[in-house]
Amino acid sequence: MAKGLKGKASSWMSKYIKLRDSIEYCKQRNIPLDSGIGQCCTCGKIVTVKLADAGHFISRGSRGASGVYFDERNCHFQCRSCNRFEQGRTLDYENFMLKKYGQEVIDELKFLDKNQSYKYKIVAIGLMYKELFLELKKEVDHLPAFFERDKNGNTKTRQPVCRIGQRGIHKCRKQKSRPGQNLSGLSLQPPNG
Ligand SMILES: [Zn+2]
Repeated sequence: MAKGLKGKASSWMSKYIKLRDSIEYCKQRNIPLDSGIGQCCTCGKIVTVKLADAGHFISRGSRGASGVYFDERNCHFQCRSCNRFEQGRTLDYENFMLKKYGQEVIDELKFLDKNQSYKYKIVAIGLMYKELFLELKKEVDHLPAFFERDKNGNTKTRQPVCRIGQRGIHKCRKQKSRPGQNLSGLSLQPPNG
C-alpha cells in the first residue's frame, strides 16, 4: 500500500522534474518549449526526454529511504546512461549542485537526508508534484508524447513528433515521426562551451 503511494508520488515527481529542466533548457536556448529535449546534469549531453531520467543527487541509500528523496533540489534531468549505468556520476553531480545551488544547499540536503522523513507526507507529496506538473504543462503547447511513457519506456500513445532540425529549426508539425530516430547525430553543444 505504502509502496504504491510512493511509486505514484515518485512517478509524478519524475515527470515534473524532466519537464521543469527541459523547459529551462529550451528557454535558455530560445527554442520551442515543446522540443522535448534537455541537458544531462552530469555529462552535459543533450538528450530527448524519452532517454532521460529524473536522477537523484542523494539516492535512497542503504536505509532504502532518504529524507530528501522528494526534495526537488535533489533531483534533475539526467541521461539514462549516467543515472542507470554510472551510478549517477556522484562527483559530477556534486559539481553540478555546487554551481547551481552552492555548498550551503548541499550541506542542508545532506543534513535533511538523515534527519527528515517524508513517511507520513507521501500522499501530499504525490498530489503536490501532480499539481506542479499539470501547472507547468500549461506552458507547453504540445506536450511530447513520451511524457506518458510507462515503466518500460514504451509510450502509451505514439512516438514523439517534435524534432529539432539540424540548424535548430523546429519542425514539430511538419515532420512525420520515425520510430528509433533520435538526436544523437546532431552536434548540439552543451552551454559554457
Ligand atoms: Zn549523462
